[in-house]
Amino acid sequence: MVSTHNLGFPRIGLQRELKFALEQYWRGDIDAASLEQTGQELRKRHWALQAELDWLPVGDFSFYDHVLDTSQMLGNLPTRVNPDADSLTQYFQASRGRGQTGTADCCDHQIAAAEMTKWFDTNYHYLVPEFTADTEFSAFPERLLAQIGEAKTAGHNVKPVLLGPVSYVWLGKTKDDSNKLALLDKLLPIYADILDQLADNGVEWVQIDEPVLVTELDSEWQQALEKAYFLLAKSRVKLLLTTYFGQLQQNLQLACELPTAGLHIDAINAADELTRIVDWLPSHKVLSVGIINGRNIWKTDLNQALDLLEPIHQRLEDRLWIAPSCSLLHSPIDLSVETSLDPEISDWMAFAIQKLTELALLATALNQGREAVAAELQANARSIDKRHQSPRVHDQAVKQRYQHITAEMARRQSDYATRAKIQQAELRLPAYPTTTIGSFPQTNTIRQARKQFRLGQLSQADYEQQMKAEIRDAIDKQLTLGLDVLVHGEAERNDMVEYFGQQLNGYTFTSNGWVQSYGSRCVKPPVIFGDVSRPKAMTADWALYAQSLTDKPVKGMLTGPVTMLNWSFVRDDQPRSETCLQLALAIRDEVLDLEAAGVKIIQIDEAALREGLPLRQSQWQDYLDWAIESFRIAGNGVKDYTQIHTHMCYSEFNDIIEAIAAMDADVITIETSRSQMELLDVFNAFAYPNAIGPGVYDIHSPNIPSENAMVELMKLAAQRIAPEQLWVNPDCGLKTRRWEEVMPALQAMVAAAQQLRQQQNAA
Ligand code: GLN
Ligand code: ZN
Repeated sequence: MVSTHNLGFPRIGLQRELKFALEQYWRGDIDAASLEQTGQELRKRHWALQAELDWLPVGDFSFYDHVLDTSQMLGNLPTRVNPDADSLTQYFQASRGRGQTGTADCCDHQIAAAEMTKWFDTNYHYLVPEFTADTEFSAFPERLLAQIGEAKTAGHNVKPVLLGPVSYVWLGKTKDDSNKLALLDKLLPIYADILDQLADNGVEWVQIDEPVLVTELDSEWQQALEKAYFLLAKSRVKLLLTTYFGQLQQNLQLACELPTAGLHIDAINAADELTRIVDWLPSHKVLSVGIINGRNIWKTDLNQALDLLEPIHQRLEDRLWIAPSCSLLHSPIDLSVETSLDPEISDWMAFAIQKLTELALLATALNQGREAVAAELQANARSIDKRHQSPRVHDQAVKQRYQHITAEMARRQSDYATRAKIQQAELRLPAYPTTTIGSFPQTNTIRQARKQFRLGQLSQADYEQQMKAEIRDAIDKQLTLGLDVLVHGEAERNDMVEYFGQQLNGYTFTSNGWVQSYGSRCVKPPVIFGDVSRPKAMTADWALYAQSLTDKPVKGMLTGPVTMLNWSFVRDDQPRSETCLQLALAIRDEVLDLEAAGVKIIQIDEAALREGLPLRQSQWQDYLDWAIESFRIAGNGVKDYTQIHTHMCYSEFNDIIEAIAAMDADVITIETSRSQMELLDVFNAFAYPNAIGPGVYDIHSPNIPSENAMVELMKLAAQRIAPEQLWVNPDCGLKTRRWEEVMPALQAMVAAAQQLRQQQNAA
């Protein structure tokens, strides 16, 4: 009999219950007990949905992030949290810089939130564990134990999920340049203690995630894994060493041989390693094959999956487990509520719940023979076939245009120095120009108007009038603040990818396909199912209206092709590079329309460029080649006088700085404030050629930065980058903030820029 299990279930809830409860709690509208109750209800519901599995995950639920949960469980929250606060308050202080509004812990204890960064190559963000050489750990597994209790009370067969010790250390950062691997000796006894307590609670299997195994590990890290698992092998629980998101490659033998009771591999990304793994696997071990893609929304080709699984099943028999490739955290919850999707297209899809049904079908087919589910397999084959044949997917004109892309289309007319002069003559910006990243607070009025318009309750004319009123208000506010380059505020946009996807051919949308991005933030990735093209101009009207209100330059705002790709669910029937270049051509058309309409500055956001990097550095260049080419195709068709901006929200780009420079954007704005300008170290070694705005205002936190703090950050930047190249701006867009926070923060930011200019003049 093969066993079925799941690595993790989406936490946020089908109606985003967790998001709303968290936000109510932070505002002080509900108390901790009712937040806890929401958590409990969601877990209960999600376990019930997984009840058919042989093993259910516990410990995959989180109020903000499972890496931060791990930090708390290991007694390693940042030391700056208020030591006198309760554990929930400390938890939120670490995640967002403050506990709950209205309690003493909010205003008295504003602290810097932990740094947040991308979880491997996904769009999920985790909170970076902080270490120093002196970090001590201690075990606080109470929360996990309580959840195990809940699941058992509900009658489930549980398999707790832990983030493994080596990956935990690998994901963290030392604040004092000490060697973080040295901490493992202190950490392992804590893990051993926790496993012990799990055993005391009757736990048989523990899923221990070591996604580092799909990255390039040097021998030091490989030895750390050996050390860790030889020590943890003494535990009374069985460990399922769990890898996902990629191939094992040079870690394959190690993963097979570590002394654990089982190994899970991502058979979507590591399909071609499967045979070798089965060959290498010691005969006492369970192999869990992650056969259902946990990160996309497409139906599994069940017959193909069975072709792969059956021979393995013959060899391993009961030692074969099957599961999704990774946690379903990265997939929306339930396709069956998507009543407005075109039925032809929804027939090609599967969300978390449907993926678990697929898993059950595969298990039945393996355990009882394909005949036992013949009708289901036939229906599945029909859907798969229809999708491949569908004329909705293929557009010959787009394929033609893609074939005729030339190198010339990716090049600006002149080099940066020449362009910069022409642009300065045109724009006449002061030193340290100030700008924002695009969006302004999305107020209830704005959301309401968009919703009513979508539901047909607001006429086109009334909607436009309301949006224009918002734009006018945003422009007025920016003029009052004294910003140099303005934005229209993106009031009309629900989401930077969805907004454009809705206007492009080849895209479709779910109404409820939410996926957690960080904390209470969810995204609803659009679906690229077919060839992409732009039927008509997408943004010109709003941009021109905004520009008509002021003499100061207003940026036209677009989302770049790589971000459109990386933040969508992408078709899996052609190379991603091809889909990306199709997107690039569509955005290029929009850029050229904006330029023709007189827009002088155009920002093409590539917020997600970095997260598309393959997990192994050896595969980076190939990705960067087509990603950068796509950006250049999108942006570089303009005249010299048009200033192209780009924006990226992550603070680690040391390793791809040359590729970023090769994008040749005139100005790039980036996130930096949480990492204290650490990333700017890269500019010691690499002379970044064009202009750059390192973010000085952490927009992920409700805290308001002071003028002097921002001046200090800019001075750090000016030590590495010529002041003429520097812009002053927030880390990212302000849509998630409130005007009450944004106004004083931007006021301080503009004052900071003025201070810098005065100091420059005085020098
Ligand atoms: N222009 C977008 C905004 O300001 C950029 C968002 C992002 O980088 N994630 O909202
Ligand atoms: Zn951003």
